[in-house]
Amino acid sequence: MANHSDASEENQKRKTATSDPREKATYAVPVAKGLINTLKHILRNEPNTIHYPDEKRTPYPGYRGEHRLKRDELGREKCVACFMCSTACPAHCIEIVAEEAPWDDREKRPRLFNIDMMRCIYCGMCEEACPCDAIELTPVFNIPARTRAEKIYDKDKLLSL
Ligand code: SF4
Ligand code: SF4
Repeated sequence: MANHSDASEENQKRKTATSDPREKATYAVPVAKGLINTLKHILRNEPNTIHYPDEKRTPYPGYRGEHRLKRDELGREKCVACFMCSTACPAHCIEIVAEEAPWDDREKRPRLFNIDMMRCIYCGMCEEACPCDAIELTPVFNIPARTRAEKIYDKDKLLSL
């Protein structure tokens, strides 16, 4: 019974609070500002949408999109399979298997280099960690896929981007 009367008192307090004219005035100003802002946008008639895919938005400088592995001046992959990127990756989405490199200027190269783009959070840590400037995040953002498996990019795909 005591609980019921407490609840009634509480409800009464709430009603009194919301009917306070000063409180109503507090809400009225931001609501009016919001409506004016909306009206300004309507009158300016600036389009905020684009007709994708006929129109494409240019990403801002520094946008972190799809990854690519770089090649050196001889067309070889720059990656030396040091595992720095996979160690730094917070999403654990880089898988590397190293093999002996057939060249004299490095010991290893990646036999397998996969990135699971469905797990990637596009943080750029892999690019930051790479000592050879071998991996980078490009401005490309629109590579579609029908299956999850297609979003696991292998070495060939990463080198072709
Ligand atoms: S961008 Fe971040 S999450 Fe994606 S592969 Fe690189 S380190 Fe991992
Ligand atoms: S991409 Fe860079 S950090 Fe990653 S394994 Fe290759 S050389 Fe090392």
